[in-house]
Amino acid sequence: MSVAAVEPEVADRAIAIRREIHRFPELGFEEERTAAIVERELDAIGVEHRRVAKTGVVGIVRGALPGKVAGLRADMDALPLTERSGEPFSSEVPGKMHACGHDAHTAMLLGAARLLHDARASLHGTTVLLFQPAEEGPGGALPMIEAGAMDDPPIDAVAMLHVDSRLETGTIGFVAGACNAAADEFRVTIAGRGGHGAAPHLSIDAIPCAAATVLALQNIAAREIDPLKTVVVTIGTIEGGYRNNIIADRVTLTGTFRSQDQAVRDGLEARARRIVEGVATAYGATATLEVIYGYPAVVNDSGLARTFRAYMQSHSKIPVESPAPTMGGEDFSYFAERAPGLMIRHGIRSVAAGSIYPGHSPEFRVDETALAFGIETLVAFARGVGAGEVRGGSD
Ligand SMILES: [Zn+2]
Ligand SMILES: [Zn+2]
Repeated sequence: MSVAAVEPEVADRAIAIRREIHRFPELGFEEERTAAIVERELDAIGVEHRRVAKTGVVGIVRGALPGKVAGLRADMDALPLTERSGEPFSSEVPGKMHACGHDAHTAMLLGAARLLHDARASLHGTTVLLFQPAEEGPGGALPMIEAGAMDDPPIDAVAMLHVDSRLETGTIGFVAGACNAAADEFRVTIAGRGGHGAAPHLSIDAIPCAAATVLALQNIAAREIDPLKTVVVTIGTIEGGYRNNIIADRVTLTGTFRSQDQAVRDGLEARARRIVEGVATAYGATATLEVIYGYPAVVNDSGLARTFRAYMQSHSKIPVESPAPTMGGEDFSYFAERAPGLMIRHGIRSVAAGSIYPGHSPEFRVDETALAFGIETLVAFARGVGAGEVRGGSD
């Protein structure tokens, strides 16, 4: 494994802050305690900061030398999950857990803030530190952007890290183009007519209609979309009925559409509506479809991906991998729609540290020796963008 160029004191401080945040996880827009830790640390470093979007914090490190403006984003929120990691610093709040690594993201950005601030005499450009609430929902990126987080000063290129247990500790990775998926929620309500289980001919049974709807919706991915354009249709819940001998008058299904291609995404609602309404008609029932649009896919800027890979190769010993895209969602996409953006996967895989579980697992752990590599990566991005060596634009 390579050795991070970050001093042990900086890495140790990041680990201590990560544990402090980990013990008291907070859900979206409730991150008061976490935001206060961020502000306390920025004050201690001497970095100017302001509050945006309730619990969001924007910090600014101004280099002494002229240059471009880099944005670095870290999310701060936890998940509604009870921790079973067995870590000695486990969550002290039942039903809440940092199971996606956002505690590590916040701690690493504070570590990067310290190094950039200490080096500002030789630093080109400006770095905007974006501490974001509510990534897991309902979404803090857009409210931060609407509050001007990207405007003062205007950001030229923006990056984020996300811990990833597919990549070994000591490595990072990214690819150009779509690197995750848009995730849109939907709800189908099927209405029939209830009755006695012994007299189906006098009722309209919503249950077989729901069963047929579940199967028919899979046809979107299986038969309607170009197989080279990824789509996942998941039905997560089915709710309906009263008792074994009562015919159900109503069933509700909820699920998600995940897609990477915007044109594919734009067509999903109409395809699903045709199927849902068509199946209901065939069964003599009626059905409605409601879609709640979520975050768009993150599209990594190709120029930024290429120039940052080259920059890392010449300024760092950290190996840069090219991990496959995932079908997860991430509201960093909104930042990356407004400035060239790069979602960087941050390796935390370590069998010895038990850092092998995927995010959102109650057993999720982070190999903390990885934090030093994340801090080094964030500092490199800010330096490279500031100096004009790392820049966006299509190739
Ligand atoms: Zn997550
Ligand atoms: Zn996450």
